[in-house]
Amino acid sequence: MYFRSDQEARRVLATTWHWPNFSLSELVCRCAGRFCERSYWHDPLFLDRLQALRTAIGKPLRLTSAHRCSLWNAAIGGGAHSQHKRMAVDISLNGHDRHQVLSAAKQVGFTGFGLAKSFLHLDARAAPAMWYYPGGRGLW
Ligand SMILES: [Zn+2]
Repeated sequence: MYFRSDQEARRVLATTWHWPNFSLSELVCRCAGRFCERSYWHDPLFLDRLQALRTAIGKPLRLTSAHRCSLWNAAIGGGAHSQHKRMAVDISLNGHDRHQVLSAAKQVGFTGFGLAKSFLHLDARAAPAMWYYPGGRGLW
């Protein structure tokens, strides 16, 4: 479900938000008002998986990117069909065992895995995929 602003999302979702370790502010577009008003793509199943991953890891997961509006996605070099235009997350690996995070992410049902040097991209695409970002190969 698409929300054009975090205000709208907060109003609609306030009473049903049940992912204790994640807040809307971490998941909205980060273009900082350049192209949208902190737009958001709400996908409860995605959040169920993300929360299950957080619970399995037992430590905070810092998201470096989540939903992106189309213009922000393009501005930062995201692919035209990037899952970030709906919902995907990039999780910082700082302080984490990358293999543990990847293994747990597979177990909780994510299907798209982008392996980078400093982060792990996760999404829930229909056809499973795994790829390396430049500099990521050899570290995984
Ligand atoms: Zn935006």
